[in-house]
Amino acid sequence: MTLREPADALANDLIRIDAQVADKSDAIRQAGQLLVATGCVASGYEASMAQREAIANTYLGSGVAIPHGLGEDKGLVRRDGIVVLQVPGGIEWNPGQIAHLVVGIAANSDSHIAILRRLTRLIQDEPRLRSLFTTHDAALIAEALQSDGPAAAASPAGEDLASTIAWTADYPTGLHARPASAWVEAAKASGVTMRVRHGSEIADPRSLISLLQLGLKAGDDVTISASGEGAAQALQRFHGVITGISSREKADAARAAEKALAPVRGWKPAGAPRMVAGVAASPGLAIGKVHLLAAAELEVADQPVALIEGGTLLNDALIRTRAQMKALVDDTTRRLGPADAAIFAAQATLLDDTDLITLTCQLMVEGHGVAWSWNEAIQRLAGQLTALGNPVLAARAADLQDVGRRVLAQIDPALSTGTLAEIPDEPSILVAADLSPSDTASLDVAKVAGIATALGGPTSHSAILARTLGLPSVVAGGAELLALAAGSTAIVDGDNGRVWLNPSDEDLASAQAYIAALAEERAAQEAERSRPAVTKDGRAIAIGANVNRPDQAPFALAQGGEGVGLMRTEFLFLERGDTPSEEEQFAIYREMIEALDGRPLIVRALDIGGDKRVPHLDLPREENPFLGVRGARLLLRRPDLLDPQLRALYRAAKLGGDLSIMFPMITSASELITLRARCEEVRSELDAPQVPVGIMIEVPAAAVQAHALAAHADFFSIGTNDLTQYALAIDRQNPELASEADSLHPAVLRLIAMTVEGARTRDRWVGVCGGIAGDPFGAALLVGLGVNELSMTPRDIPAVKARIRAAESGTLTALASRALSAQSAAEVRALDHEVA
Ligand code: PEP
Ligand code: MG
Repeated sequence: MTLREPADALANDLIRIDAQVADKSDAIRQAGQLLVATGCVASGYEASMAQREAIANTYLGSGVAIPHGLGEDKGLVRRDGIVVLQVPGGIEWNPGQIAHLVVGIAANSDSHIAILRRLTRLIQDEPRLRSLFTTHDAALIAEALQSDGPAAAASPAGEDLASTIAWTADYPTGLHARPASAWVEAAKASGVTMRVRHGSEIADPRSLISLLQLGLKAGDDVTISASGEGAAQALQRFHGVITGISSREKADAARAAEKALAPVRGWKPAGAPRMVAGVAASPGLAIGKVHLLAAAELEVADQPVALIEGGTLLNDALIRTRAQMKALVDDTTRRLGPADAAIFAAQATLLDDTDLITLTCQLMVEGHGVAWSWNEAIQRLAGQLTALGNPVLAARAADLQDVGRRVLAQIDPALSTGTLAEIPDEPSILVAADLSPSDTASLDVAKVAGIATALGGPTSHSAILARTLGLPSVVAGGAELLALAAGSTAIVDGDNGRVWLNPSDEDLASAQAYIAALAEERAAQEAERSRPAVTKDGRAIAIGANVNRPDQAPFALAQGGEGVGLMRTEFLFLERGDTPSEEEQFAIYREMIEALDGRPLIVRALDIGGDKRVPHLDLPREENPFLGVRGARLLLRRPDLLDPQLRALYRAAKLGGDLSIMFPMITSASELITLRARCEEVRSELDAPQVPVGIMIEVPAAAVQAHALAAHADFFSIGTNDLTQYALAIDRQNPELASEADSLHPAVLRLIAMTVEGARTRDRWVGVCGGIAGDPFGAALLVGLGVNELSMTPRDIPAVKARIRAAESGTLTALASRALSAQSAAEVRALDHEVA
């Protein structure tokens, strides 16, 4: 049997059943002789095997030994092959290590490691392995050694195979990982041996890395050849697959080009620097050096372990990473669609890449530690891809690194990378696949000037946090972002959703001037920020700040906040690995009350669920978490979360301050009635004062039934982020639909109008604490719709106040009624110039 030709079976006469061996040296000699007899190696290889044994341990573990020759004697190997001696009684390989299967390996290339990979897998299946120690059937051993499907094909060499077909690449961005992974699938399914040739370069279409190394660009001619039974038909099918991909590749390229052509407002470069188009998530312009969150240099210590232990570690890590990637693919499919998920599906195929696995195993066999070997293999292969000087391949190198890091973190959690602590001291543009809300929350704004993510949506909690932090941010920029060179200069345009790369000195200077002009305008608004938001004709609007932590309160007040309209308490849970106790929560609420010094504080009860996942709570995975047990629905099911929070709140209220409690995600009056009853029980147990209990209006049903809810709620605060998501049926994290998820859509405005109307029947006040409250035009419109309070990110306060002070309330009411009868969000936004 040769490893090169997967179709060949392991010939039974290369398996010696019940071999009679005197000792380990005899076993090695016999294995060597068998290899010579097969013609795989020249005579002398047996001696080489014996010498290797003197310097390295070839006992694999669990009764399997893998003697093989010295690296310098590879010249003795004529072709790859293996032989097996079965020793039912066992032979002592090393003290305490008994070998029952002696697998002699001859290999010119790395391919003997493919058999090692199978063996380490087989070793996990102990009953099967044990049966092979005593079986009389050589075929069972042969089958077990081939049981992970066709043997790994080494890099093919030579000319085309018997049947050929020609193809001219017409993928606009070349053969990148996503289409290449479809090729790999098709080649694996073909059942025949195939080659892909471009000029004199030949690739194995079963290996993603091998295919990518061809560096195929649009217009390149390739010859695809196959041999074996049914080769011609298999080639036809393969051709069908690769041409079938063309239309999607072209459509994707056209979409990207269209995105790039969308009109730009605000700053524009005079030159034509390279640009990645995404979706605007947090306004402003930022200049900085690219810091790839995933690109941290890793120190991987070489800590050799027994080969079997290493094999198990690697295998387990690969299994867990596969599961992790599968979850990522599922999640991305749900959020962004299958096209984007394919990025990760393609990455996941790298986990099975034979070149990568064999190189890792080889390094392990040489005596290196598993994490070190894996990292070394990743670095070498990524280095080969980068060295080709092709940006498409460089991006694949980034994929390889990305997958590599995932596996490393599984091998040893201490090797998890990309910690935010590594951000350099100079202003950086943080580039990442995605940022979790807690990652964003912990960013150091002194170091991070702007953010650009490949995934995510503008109303996601990460984007909200970026706005809170005043960090210009672009989301949904796609995988291209992840291939940016670390350290290069970039400009993030958070108004237009663009990332400009390596701008000229002239463009840099104009961007800096634009940033300075914005700062000046802002300074003028800020000078007036402590004045109240009263319209010209005397209508006062309460202005609150959305802050999560007491230490953010002084800044919110300094920006002109008159209190806190939304304290999102789930961040107390998200930012740490465990549940804060009642005592800890009490201390935080007290601190917040004291920081506000008598000003109002609305604390929102836990809104966990949706995109706010708290790993340590181990909540069941849901198909549609935004439509699942979220917010009040979770609180009603988890008194262990609700009660300590209510107790902490009422205890805090007892010591003074202007505290209100607000429940999120209320859908029906019955939920509110139950929650209020629980509030009352806790309050009376503690002998605490009554505090206003209000609700978020973020589910359309609640807006429509506002009149019914008003009977039980002391106030309403409209969460337009969720209300928009649920009214328009657009996942707030979906970048594909991000530009359509506009809170100024007339349908959302009508729900807001209904809420105001319902609240008036009971004389309740209505606030808005979703993102649109911080948009000066949106705020003006909301005032026109009759809301009494606006609560927003502190930085938005000065501009919103300035806008309200400049308006007449009658004009705003007229504006609102025109907006309500508009047909689209764009039509509503076009009314902007009508407001003073
Ligand atoms: C909202 O939905 O508008 C809101 C303020 O709540 P959150 O963004 O925390 O879901
Ligand atoms: Mg919400």
